[in-house]
Amino acid sequence: MRLFNFYVLLLISGALSAQNNIDFDKFFINQTLRVDFFHSGDAKTEFISLDKIYKQGVWAGNPNQCIQPFELGSYKLLVMDTLTSQILYTKGYSTIFSEYQTTGPAMRGEKKTYHETALVPFPKKPIRLIIQKRAKDNSLAGIYSLVIDPADYHINTEKFNLESNEVVKIVNNGDPHHRVDLVILGEGYTLADREKFKEDLKYYSNLLLGFEPYKTRKNLININGVFAPSEESGTDEPRQHIYRNTPFGSSFNTFDVDRYLTVEDNKAIHDAIACVPYDAVLIMVNKDRYGGGGIFNFQTVFATGSDKKDYVFLHEFGHAFAGLADEYYTSQVAYQDIYTPGVEPLEANITALVDTANLKWKKLLSPGIKITTDWGKDKFDSMNNTIDSLQSLRAATIEQMQKAGKPKNEIDSKVNLINKQIDELYKKADDFIFNHPLKDKVGVFEGANYLSQGYYRPTINSIMLRFSPDQHSYGPVNDQAIIKIIEYYTQ
Ligand SMILES: [Zn+2]
Repeated sequence: MRLFNFYVLLLISGALSAQNNIDFDKFFINQTLRVDFFHSGDAKTEFISLDKIYKQGVWAGNPNQCIQPFELGSYKLLVMDTLTSQILYTKGYSTIFSEYQTTGPAMRGEKKTYHETALVPFPKKPIRLIIQKRAKDNSLAGIYSLVIDPADYHINTEKFNLESNEVVKIVNNGDPHHRVDLVILGEGYTLADREKFKEDLKYYSNLLLGFEPYKTRKNLININGVFAPSEESGTDEPRQHIYRNTPFGSSFNTFDVDRYLTVEDNKAIHDAIACVPYDAVLIMVNKDRYGGGGIFNFQTVFATGSDKKDYVFLHEFGHAFAGLADEYYTSQVAYQDIYTPGVEPLEANITALVDTANLKWKKLLSPGIKITTDWGKDKFDSMNNTIDSLQSLRAATIEQMQKAGKPKNEIDSKVNLINKQIDELYKKADDFIFNHPLKDKVGVFEGANYLSQGYYRPTINSIMLRFSPDQHSYGPVNDQAIIKIIEYYTQ
């Protein structure tokens, strides 16, 4: 196997033209080529190195859509015919590494390594696998290239079916080539938690299949569960000094954000689910706590507890499955330097209003609505600013009282008073959003994607912002984006 040289790097930079009339059977067999990598670097540099190559089970993707008909994700995977340079397959995706690049430590030059997996249909003839990276202006440039000969005996064909693991079929609607194939992998479930795993699996499958736009398309979705017994129940919570021995290395406090739950042991994940066809992996973490994470075409992670568990699941899957952006801007995140002036983001549900005449959800705008839409943002912001101040006050109060050696019950009662005020304000802010006169309108609402200014969202609220009890879909614009992805996998 030859690694890339400079000439190839030039060749694979920029938009490689690709036509979506690939004769699948001419170029591929109905199996999966899995290529595992290590992806290392900091904010300015990155380096991809090969780990292992595998030949796995049937191809889960859609043979009619070898070339992904839309642009999304911070990376793009391409398969090129080495003889003719024809592009045979493309897929966009994002990674934990690309998120890491936007954090403080990465900007200070701290290098970190993450494991990643690329899945493509198994080729009949030698191919060049290419990875392109998106720059801040969304242009693509090649960062990695590898020639793979399908006849190479270094390609590992081992069976991954572990006797201790159990596949639980939830719904099977037929041929994986024309279905959205989801696998829900249990994390932090011990042997004693097996029944809880099955209950949770049913709960979240029903939640997904009962929520629009999946609900009316549920016969296009296959779901398998994979139970992989864990030594210990739960997950890591570093801020609480809690560490659990679990099969996939899940942890809260990713990038030091309290609620951000990700799963870094990527190799173990793909080993465990290699026994079923999958377009997307969801990792269900056995923990009663608010948190999760969703990265486009990479992973959905959700904790099974908390009163907002439905929201966490649907919200994170919206990121991972359809590449939807966060529409909120008032919560703490680790990402920095998010805004690039003059660049329209690729996500379907946010805009920088670079070209108002060609607004991406123009067709869905409510009649007569103003661009931009006045929604009383100042009032909402002032409630959130007060919440921020109260949270700072709470932290300072605890620190001061602990330093002064005050008894725990005295500290608790002070903190409870502040908590009551915070809860009341949260309720008021929810009420403002949930019962807003524009709540069913599609417009252009300022504030989205972690920024109060510069980015706009299509509705006052959606599941990509806050969860309200009367939500039955992701909202008009987000639903269209999700339907497009379902069609990509099934038509
Ligand atoms: Zn989110």
